[in-house]
Amino acid sequence: MKKALVSGVTGQDGAYLSKYLLDKGYEVYGMYRRTSTPNFWRLDYLGIFDKINIISADITDFSSILDAIKTSQPDEIYHLAAQSFVRASFESPIATANIDGISTLNFLEAIRMYDESIRFYFAGTSEMYGKSVQYQNKKLNEESPFRPVSPYAAAKLYSYWVTKIYRDAYKLFSVSGILFNHESPLRGLEFVTRKISNEVARIQLGLSKELRLGNMDSKRDWGYAPEYVEAMHTMLNSKNPKDYVLATGESHSVREFVVEAFKVIGENPGRYVKSDRTFLRHNDFDLVLGDPANARKELGWKPKTSFKELVKIMVKEDIKRWNLWQEGERFPFDAPYYKEMDMKKKGREILE
Ligand code: NDP
Ligand code: GDP
Repeated sequence: MKKALVSGVTGQDGAYLSKYLLDKGYEVYGMYRRTSTPNFWRLDYLGIFDKINIISADITDFSSILDAIKTSQPDEIYHLAAQSFVRASFESPIATANIDGISTLNFLEAIRMYDESIRFYFAGTSEMYGKSVQYQNKKLNEESPFRPVSPYAAAKLYSYWVTKIYRDAYKLFSVSGILFNHESPLRGLEFVTRKISNEVARIQLGLSKELRLGNMDSKRDWGYAPEYVEAMHTMLNSKNPKDYVLATGESHSVREFVVEAFKVIGENPGRYVKSDRTFLRHNDFDLVLGDPANARKELGWKPKTSFKELVKIMVKEDIKRWNLWQEGERFPFDAPYYKEMDMKKKGREILE
């Protein structure tokens, strides 16, 4: 039985990847950071919490990572843990550099010293292209230049390069996926897709009256997350270690996402959507679009879920959750957020 160590197991991709690997017969070890309140709602949602060996570790601490590797003895490591929100990286740039940059070096050094046969996947991002996105206005591929414009992107780019350097210098099987936005009902609520699906669901059930958004003309290459984790596994099980762009090759605007989301509940967005400057960004990209041709040709990977299907899946799932909430169910979904809503439902004051 193959063994995999997954960092960031409590996140969207960590949860889907763990499920995918379990279904393939892997023994899965999930690394998470110790918190006073464990955050396993995504693993509960997928019904896999009991099937994963949970390891508490600090990815910014070399000995902690080495211990996790010694405990799990993995064949494959998927390093997905990250401070993943661009805006937050301006608020805590040094922490972001450690979490999204140095952590990768910790893994690579541990592999180099302990067992060079372990295969390593790093979660790269389209954010690494930064300014090239704006200047080229065309599909980005593995050869496009990187021009990061946030501490998040710079830290990720460090990880990307060091992963390549260890592959070239030490012949490790260490690769990066350059992933474009991928979404799902397990996406964090701070991202625009989930913010929209969640609010549209609440509007349908009479729990909200408006949806406040920033730049609605912005376009993204949005795919469906469960399909992207399959490609991560394929990359680590290929003959040659290589980096790949994972994207749909199609772009849609935030406005289109809004229109499709309101279609699901048969309402007109005009009545509810408000423009709010608070959500505008200084360094925003108008268009982010990837070219997954190499992944298609060499890995046989291609996204299957269409943009419209993705929106429908997300809105319907949020409606289901809010219905349960209205019926007074306790649930494992987005626990802290729902807890807050629950307190508001009971009329308790929350200090902002
Ligand atoms: P999430 O934000 O959903 O999950 C991030 C994970 O990292 C969570 O498990 C989180 O733990 C963990 N984490 C955050 N900070 C730390 C820390 N200091 N120490 C240890 N763990 C930490 O991200 P996704 O699942 O969506 O993304 C997975 C990876 O892919 C990330 O590296 C992200 O940057 C990258 N990526 C994602 C894209 C997307 O569209 N989703 C696009 C391109 C790249 P906790 O639950 O405790 O917060
Ligand atoms: P990103 O591509 O990783 O930054 O993913 P996001 O989901 O955070 O943002 C995607 C796009 O939606 C960006 O261009 C944002 O400026 C735009 N956007 C518009 N309104 C909002 C909003 O209210 N929240 C977020 N997160 N993004 C918004």
